[in-house]
Amino acid sequence: MRLEHAKKLHAVGVIVLSLFGSIAAVLLALRWGAGLLEAGLFCLMYSLSMVGITVGYHRCFAHGAFEAPPWLRAALAICGSMACQGPVIYWVANHRAHHRFTDAPGDPHSPYFFGATPLGRLRGLWHSHLGWTYSHPIPDTVTYAKDLMRSPSTRRLSRLYFVWVGLGLVLPALLGGLLTFSLSGAVRGLLWGGFVRVFVAYQLSLAIGSIAHSQGQRPFHIRGLSANNALLALPTFGEGWHQNHHAFPYSGTFGLTWWQLDLGAVVLRGLSTLGWVWNIKVPPASAIAARRATPDEAWGMESTPAELAAQAAAGVRHAGPAVSNPPEEENRRHGERAG
Ligand SMILES: [Zn+2]
Ligand SMILES: [Zn+2]
Repeated sequence: MRLEHAKKLHAVGVIVLSLFGSIAAVLLALRWGAGLLEAGLFCLMYSLSMVGITVGYHRCFAHGAFEAPPWLRAALAICGSMACQGPVIYWVANHRAHHRFTDAPGDPHSPYFFGATPLGRLRGLWHSHLGWTYSHPIPDTVTYAKDLMRSPSTRRLSRLYFVWVGLGLVLPALLGGLLTFSLSGAVRGLLWGGFVRVFVAYQLSLAIGSIAHSQGQRPFHIRGLSANNALLALPTFGEGWHQNHHAFPYSGTFGLTWWQLDLGAVVLRGLSTLGWVWNIKVPPASAIAARRATPDEAWGMESTPAELAAQAAAGVRHAGPAVSNPPEEENRRHGERAG
């Protein structure tokens, strides 16, 4: 019950605080202007949180897409926590449930649970974007994240979540203050590197569950209606190539062709060059070809949005894998490892 209460408070708190902080930032900027300091601290903190979410929480902790030393895993978990999307173990458990039941009952944030009428689609979009953060069931971390629960260091990182959230606000304030030797610099740092940055990163991350499950290209024949959304791919550091990711969850790179820019993968390659990460998994060309949708499979989906909504309303559970996917099982199942 305490956890249920904390979840709701967290959902409302992040939205309200980041929204009001952003409004204050814009009003102050209109009054006194904004410049390099605001832009620089926003970009720095935004990049840290996005790398933390996509390279850390998502590719490293949820899917075990590469190997990294404990200090780097910790740094990635801390940066991910600054994005205010919940403690790493909680996030991973939720996310693995999303992979197991993609767009079917059991998926914490599918846009297809409210029928196929225009109003139902709109309600679904709201649920998959923001509504679910308030209403989703507390994920079963023992079932979905037992590999992380077994690691004392990951449990500690997860427990200290609010310390890292605080760090994400104090750091830009401190930098703003030191760079300008002024209190106003600290306030501008807090607003733009803290609140505005959380607001933008949060909304764009949520758009992967809402927009990238309803709008975009579907080159692969897989369960669910995830889609590749090129517009989202750049600001989300590669997360927008979301159908690629659902087709090959274990892959360290989400962009699967040369033109699919994936900044998360660029960061990973950089870290690999430094020798700080290794065994980055990528699907072999034969696996990619085997899953490509044929022209007669409309957009490569097994069900149309209307059919899926009807199935969800009837409580139809798609045949997800029997076990959730802790990375070692997921990777063994696919048996593909390269790079
Ligand atoms: Zn998805
Ligand atoms: Zn995933």
